[in-house]
Amino acid sequence: MTLPAPAPQITAPRPAAAVHGHKPSAFLLLSLLVTLGACTSVPLPPWPTQGSAPGPVPAPATVAVAAPVPAVVAVAQPVPPRPAVLVAPAAEAPYSAAVAARFPAPSVIYNTPGLQEGRSSFSSNAEIQTWLRDLTASAAGVPGLKAAVLNMGQSQRGEALEAMVLSRAAGTDAAALLASGRPTVLLIGQQHGDEPAGSEALLVIARELTQGLLRPLLDRVNVIIVPRANPDGSADNKRATIGGLDMNRDHLLLNTPEARALAKLTRDYHPTVVVDAHEYTVVGRFLQKFDAVQKYDALLQYATTANIPEFLTKASEEWFRRPLVAALKAQGLSSEWYYTTSTDPLDKKISMGGTQPDTGRNVNGLKNTVSLLIETRGVGIGRLHIQRRVHTHVTAISSVLASTAQRAPELGQLQPYIEKEIISSTCKNEAVVEAGQTLTQQELLMLDPVTGADKALRVEWNSALTLRKIKARVRPCGYWLSASSKIAVERLRLHGVQVLRVTEPSSMLGDIYRETARAAGVRQDVRGTIADAGQIVKAEVALVRGVIDAPTGSYYVPLNQPLANLVIAALEPDTQSSYFANQLIESLTGSARVMSEPALKTEELP
Ligand SMILES: [Zn+2]
Repeated sequence: MTLPAPAPQITAPRPAAAVHGHKPSAFLLLSLLVTLGACTSVPLPPWPTQGSAPGPVPAPATVAVAAPVPAVVAVAQPVPPRPAVLVAPAAEAPYSAAVAARFPAPSVIYNTPGLQEGRSSFSSNAEIQTWLRDLTASAAGVPGLKAAVLNMGQSQRGEALEAMVLSRAAGTDAAALLASGRPTVLLIGQQHGDEPAGSEALLVIARELTQGLLRPLLDRVNVIIVPRANPDGSADNKRATIGGLDMNRDHLLLNTPEARALAKLTRDYHPTVVVDAHEYTVVGRFLQKFDAVQKYDALLQYATTANIPEFLTKASEEWFRRPLVAALKAQGLSSEWYYTTSTDPLDKKISMGGTQPDTGRNVNGLKNTVSLLIETRGVGIGRLHIQRRVHTHVTAISSVLASTAQRAPELGQLQPYIEKEIISSTCKNEAVVEAGQTLTQQELLMLDPVTGADKALRVEWNSALTLRKIKARVRPCGYWLSASSKIAVERLRLHGVQVLRVTEPSSMLGDIYRETARAAGVRQDVRGTIADAGQIVKAEVALVRGVIDAPTGSYYVPLNQPLANLVIAALEPDTQSSYFANQLIESLTGSARVMSEPALKTEELP
């Protein structure tokens, strides 16, 4: 008697950077063919095969769900439906009762420390620490479930930066999660201290994963939760970190310990999906400019910066955003693309989230993760509608977790595919150095501040979905960095970039940057000037072909590595986000583009 052959299984632990050249195995292709027959999802267009695209690869596009995953909505204790809150507490209501009536409380009540009846403050940093420890202790009683609180470092004021790891892997360290073969989802809350709903929602998600309705998802995914990325700003109800820097514009530069802690966590644990939970301004400058209140429960956007691989965008859209919108709708919650407007009262343009490689959303996209921004309507309205805001985040994040569980096999193929494509582009294909939004016109619904009725506005809409190419160059084989580039090297390595040290003097063919113009300036985003450390150097450059002398102790950053697109964002000097503009690299002569594969003697850094 023989046992039936096991069904083909895809196990796709993330390969080491050095072994990326392999072809997809027959096993992988077979499993793809098997599952293609049962396809129910919207097929993606075939991957373009012209030019230098990688060889035959399994399109991860049209694979059906392997097994049912639990439907996850409306967690926490159900309570009987309640009448709409018609009158908000007078001290807090920034708009009429008619507007407030558009946002009835959900049919569930969430009860984190900060959401208790009668509370006037959100969960404190100490309460969050206790919550995570209590959950971790309770997880110890669940067979096979592993939970741990990770210390990621300290905030500028000395608060602990903490993450909770939940998994059914053999342990909670990075190696154990990678060995599990399951995708890891990283959930980040409250990078902006005055946006509390994401943080409270992540406490709910942590509890439901440990003890509640979301726990079955851990059979298929690992989850890391950072409920509060900016504890100092949260304690002071301020957007920026306590030193004044906006940490959500610091994810490429890593000038703040808060951003560095997240970069290190991402480097070590290699998440496949990253969620960044925020809240957006409801009245304020929108009321001023448009005489309107914002309508949507959730605003959503994935990574939209130069050089995001096409398949990553498709996966973000089809596997994640569309089900997320449907999940919100099923709960009676509305959503739109993320948008904002500048702080200039005369500028009535509406802009989607920006294209600069500085936000968590965009930088995590450059790390080849499905990177999703979720914003609830919450800034400037205190505790008003807080249960509904938390419910929106809980619903949205539960949807992302369920989508990851459903798509686990395809996601296991997606990152290796993308990485192979990036590596095969080295030394030849084009890299976009700078991209911008495309100006369009669109109808946008807001609310009349008195009657609460929908108010349709025709707006100038800067779309990030179609990127405008502003500056492009051939991808180099790598970048040379002078021996004095220690800070830049340290930051790149915090991201997980491979940097080699030159051990024997050598010469390489390359492009040197020659400065043609220079001005001082400040970094800008679609809201206006970024809360930042100060002036940047805005240089214009010409490329001059020549021989680069690489002395012992200087550095080489090869581009045939998975994070090549992040390296380009950091090292092409003539952009506002670059390491040169932000003075992490002192001089234009301190870096150069290496244009043919160099014969170098190098060593790995310790
Ligand atoms: Zn925010």
